[in-house]
Amino acid sequence: MAKLNGRCLCGEVTWTYEGEITRSLVCHCTDCQRATSAPYAAFIGLRPEGLVWAGPMTRFESSPQTWRDFCSVCGTRLIFRSDKWPGEVHVYAATLDPSHTYRPTAQVMLRSRADWLDDLPTIPHHLDFEISPIG
Ligand SMILES: [Zn+2]
Ligand SMILES: [Zn+2]
Repeated sequence: MAKLNGRCLCGEVTWTYEGEITRSLVCHCTDCQRATSAPYAAFIGLRPEGLVWAGPMTRFESSPQTWRDFCSVCGTRLIFRSDKWPGEVHVYAATLDPSHTYRPTAQVMLRSRADWLDDLPTIPHHLDFEISPIG
């Protein structure tokens, strides 16, 4: 039994959850990449009856019977739901508060994984944003 909460970037949308975590996955599919403007989406599967949302959200039907909701103010992607998985909703893990508590247990849709993710351990690292991050 997990007790979780999260929010969007601007804080207008918040969520709380109490219940089972059905999955913790990193998805590399092209729909998740485009929907989140990120190389992959990390999410948690939650039971809809345990989720409480507050704040202005806009729903986009990304494919038939599949919806992706985002904050109507700041645009933060918050949730994926589909009639294919009626007993759960997928909440983007980066909206968790605090987000560093998240640990995925698997990654899926690896055929479309961004190749450049392999380069990350070997390119220059900076703790802060550098004006000229060349190395
Ligand atoms: Zn927001
Ligand atoms: Zn995906």
